[in-house]
Amino acid sequence: MLSGRAIILDMEEAMIEHSEATCSPQAFMRRALALAREAAGRGEVPVGAVVTLRGEIVGEGQNRREHGKSALLHAEIEAIGQACARLGGWRLWECELFVTLEPCPMCAGAIVNARIPRLVYGARDPKAGCCGSVVDLFALPFNHRPEVLGGCLEEECAGLLRDFFAELRK
Ligand code: ZN
Repeated sequence: MLSGRAIILDMEEAMIEHSEATCSPQAFMRRALALAREAAGRGEVPVGAVVTLRGEIVGEGQNRREHGKSALLHAEIEAIGQACARLGGWRLWECELFVTLEPCPMCAGAIVNARIPRLVYGARDPKAGCCGSVVDLFALPFNHRPEVLGGCLEEECAGLLRDFFAELRK
């Protein structure tokens, strides 16, 4: 039989496991990856994004450029738009953004404009990435500078894009 102390430790362990499963950057990146796969299923370049507030998803987005016939329909823009609508304001100053691909200039700009304090991205984008690949927009003296964590589930995020373009070339 477990002693009282052992039961408490057991519960703490279960809680830690639970929070890792549901609240870790990887868990949110997995949701962004699922959204990216949905986009790929429709023939869109697979990029997915989620915005979270205190461990809860408040916005989701996926690339919809082809079907939406608009250059503006990036995953991050949709996720930020949903979060603003859901939270009832443009300041997402307590939120985090998770996206499978390093943001482009437009989306990095939206992150600054929405005052998002923390960005987690997966794969680097050597052609358009604005978190250090082409330029580090967040190192410039704008009025808001988010913290950036790159390379979260990088292999899976990059692999999804690689497979998509390999399939296109067939
Ligand atoms: Zn973008």
